[in-house]
This record gives sequence, structure tokens and C-alpha cells, in this order.
Amino acid sequence: MKDLLVMKFGGTSMGSAERIRVAAELVAQERKTRPVLVVVSAMSKVTDMLLDTLRHAEAGDQAGLEANLQKLRERHVQTCNDLLPPERREPALAGIERLLADFERIAGGIRLLGERPPRSVDEALAVGERLAALLMATYLDSSGISAKDVNAAGVIVTDAVFGNANPQMAPTRKKAHERLVPLLKAGITPIVTGFNGATTDGRPTTLGRGGSDFSASILAAALDAAELWIWTDVDGIMTADPRLVPDAAVLHEVSYNEAAELAYNGAKVLHPRTLAPLVAKQIPVWSKNSFAPEKPGTRIVPKVEVSWGPRAVTSLANVALISIEPLSPELNVTQAMGRALDALGRVNAEVLALSSSSYRQSLCFLLRKEELERALAALESALSLELAHGYLRPLDVNEDVGLLAVVGEGMRGTPGLAGRIFTAISRENINIIAIAQGSSELTISIVVHKDGLEKAVRAVHQECRMGEMARQAASRRLP
Ligand code: ADP
Ligand code: ASP
Ligand code: MG
Repeated sequence: MKDLLVMKFGGTSMGSAERIRVAAELVAQERKTRPVLVVVSAMSKVTDMLLDTLRHAEAGDQAGLEANLQKLRERHVQTCNDLLPPERREPALAGIERLLADFERIAGGIRLLGERPPRSVDEALAVGERLAALLMATYLDSSGISAKDVNAAGVIVTDAVFGNANPQMAPTRKKAHERLVPLLKAGITPIVTGFNGATTDGRPTTLGRGGSDFSASILAAALDAAELWIWTDVDGIMTADPRLVPDAAVLHEVSYNEAAELAYNGAKVLHPRTLAPLVAKQIPVWSKNSFAPEKPGTRIVPKVEVSWGPRAVTSLANVALISIEPLSPELNVTQAMGRALDALGRVNAEVLALSSSSYRQSLCFLLRKEELERALAALESALSLELAHGYLRPLDVNEDVGLLAVVGEGMRGTPGLAGRIFTAISRENINIIAIAQGSSELTISIVVHKDGLEKAVRAVHQECRMGEMARQAASRRLP
């Protein structure tokens, strides 16, 4: 659908009756001139609460489970009563109870089992988004804009990597055309749950934490949308996380590559995989603030024409560095590295940065902490002979690290930049543990001790005058 606008609202933009009203108004305005498809996240903190409830269930803590359920019920019932006119409340309240009963059934199963099968967790977590979609659809409908809540489990088809599933675009496109296009053609605005999907044989999955952005881009690509607007709680993509760097400024235009690198390296404002489905069709994306909708936000486009050097700095805590060090010259290091990376790939552990030295040929790579246990087990098994015979030193794991990434299209071929960045970090007495730069020269990744991470982010932001440059460019309307 060539004129379709996909709008995604994040957790804070759906966080209360008042916020849902504002979101609905933004939908209503656009709906006047073109078809709109809405993707919603669960209300803020609800996914965390659902997860916490499942942990109580796993531990056999019935009282904890019930206390959490009560809080979830109160939050949604309160929102429903504040949001809807009296005559629309009863069916919506019944819908809330049905969804909570679904969740309770799964949590009950987990309590009996004493463990949390990933598939059940995914089915249970999707209840947060289903509740939010129900509230938004009923409110829009009650305000005279035909709308219908849609569970993405019936639309987005994924593989079976529970908790971090990958979309399968061909069957998703087919289902999106079967289930969503008829609604759009009938003038009904679909309110689709973010975050979740299902395998071809109907097993429920989720797309990873923060995955509603990704849901929206999958649907935008599947339906050939004209644009995707991602509504959040900051003014757009900024030169740094404003919670860490008060001087951070909005970048009014960034390239797909820049946005993807920023997201991948920890800028929570976008889910790391959001841009991938949009690249082939070059669908433009806007990141906008639902708390200040009049502000222009950030436009994410296939290419930016001019771009100054480093434009933004991001960081990732909760990472660990694994080092592999050969001890024997007899070892074929290239083969060992190949097997190590293959082992990580097989257990779906993502290598965030990789660096190797030429003389000793030691290799280190950075992983997310939550993937560490399975990554280590896979590495130890793949390299068991080398480790047993002392060809390799026992694997070294450093969990006291953080990743800082400096990103910008204009960094390509700018001499002296790395030196300035390293000097700025050293000036703060922060030790640089490892460095990686891909051949695209778009990003320099630096591993530092975790205690110095936030300070290093501020030092680099200031040294590269990122805030200032972004403000100047905005006033001159340069990218
Ligand atoms: P939503 O619930 O709308 O998806 P998120 O909490 O996932 O919102 O993402 C928005 C948050 O991302 C912001 O509140 C901000 O603190 C954080 N953030 C991190 N890095 C950046 C950045 N470079 N630019 C803007 N926001 C950032
Ligand atoms: N509600 C999900 C989460 O908290 C997905 C999202 O917000 O994008 O991770
Ligand atoms: Mg998010």
C-alpha cells in the first residue's frame, strides 16, 4: 500500500490513559489523509513485571505471583476506567480479564514445572502488548475512528529462536496481506501488538527486548509502507543517551547505517534490527517524541549527503570480554579461530566486537553477559582438545568491561580521529582494554573498564564537540 503510514508507540507513549489519548490523537490526525497501521508496545514496565511474575512462578512463590498479577490487573483496569467512556468499559474489562487469565494459566504451568520453557515465556510476555493493543483499539473506536486490535502472532512468522526470533519475510508478507490489508481497505485501523510473532506451526515467539520497533519495521516492509514513524520519549536519535550526557543534542538526519550502528552498540532508542527490513525498499523512518510531537525528530534515510566526523557515541554495559590465547606455535590459530566463531554462531551468541593481535595471534571478543554461559560452554567444547593439550591458555573471561562506540559516516578517511578519541579517554585515567574498527570506518569500538564507561562517553562526546556540531547543523539544516 503505497500511502500507508506505520506508527509505533513505545512503552512510555502507552504508559497511562493520558498518554494513550495523546497517541490516539496523533493517529487520528494522520488518519484523516492516509491509511495508518499502528504497532504498540506494552505499557511501560509491564514486560519487566510479567517477567518478574514468571520468575516467582518458577520459584514456586505463589504469593509473589498473585501479588504481581494483582498489580498488573490494577494498572490495566485503572487505565481502562480512566480512558474509556462508561458504555465501552464492560467489554474491555472482560477482555483484560481474559488476557490476564491466559497469562495466569501459563504462569501456573511454569509453577508446576519449576522451570520456564522459552516458548511459554514468549507466549506469556506477549500478553503485555495484547493488553495495550486492546486498550488503544477500544479507545480509538470509541472516539469514532474504526480500529481493531490484532495479535501479531497471527501475522509475523518467525523462526523458532524463542526470545530472539528472526522474521521470515515471505510468509509474513502473505499473512499481512491476508489479515491487515482487508482491514485497511475497509477503513479500519489495525492496532497490532509489537514484540511478538509465531513460528510457521503456530508456536509463539518474541523478537527480543525492545522488539516492538522491529515489529513495526517488519510490517512496514511487508506492506510496502510509505513511511514508518517511531514514537518514543526523547526528541529523536541524539548524539548520546541524554540520561548519560546532559549536553546531548538531536541529530535531525542520520543514515540507515549510522542508525543501525548506534542501535547495535547500545542506543536503546531503536531496536538493533529495526533498519534491516527497510533497506531493500528504502522506506524512510522518523524517530519522534510523543511528549513533544511538534518537534521535527530524526529522519533516518538511506544516505546522508554531507556528514561531519564522529556524530554520536553510545555505550553498552552488561558485556563480557573472552580472550583466547595460543601457547604453542604448533597450533593452527586460524583454524582454531574459525572453530571458535562457528561454535558461537551455533549457540546464537552474538559477537559485538572482535580484535586480534598479529604476533601472539591472541583473539578476544565481546559478548552480551546473558549469552556468556552458553558461549563459554560452546567454546570449551569446540576447543576441548587444544585446551586439554595446553595449546591454548584456559579461556580468560573479563566481566568488568563496557563497550563504547563512536559512530559517524564522516569518520571515513578522517585522519587523527582515533588518536583524539583515545587521548580524551586516557585523560580521564581510563584504561583502554581493546579496540576494534570495521573496514567501513563507520564505527570505532572501544572496550574499557566498566567503572570508567560513563565518564569515557562524556569525555568523547565533549572532545568531538558532538552536541555543538549537531546544534549547528540543525540551525543550518545540514545532515
Ligand atoms: P520506547 O519505550 O519508546 O521504545 P526506549 O526506552 O526503548 O523507548 O528508548 C528510548 C530511550 O533510549 C530514551 O529515553 C533514551 O534514554 C535512550 N537512548 C539511549 N541512547 C540514545 C540516543 N543516542 N538517542 C536518544 N535516546 C537514547
Ligand atoms: N515490551 C517489550 C519490552 O519491554 C517490547 C518493547 O517495548 O519494544 O521489551
Ligand atoms: Mg524501545
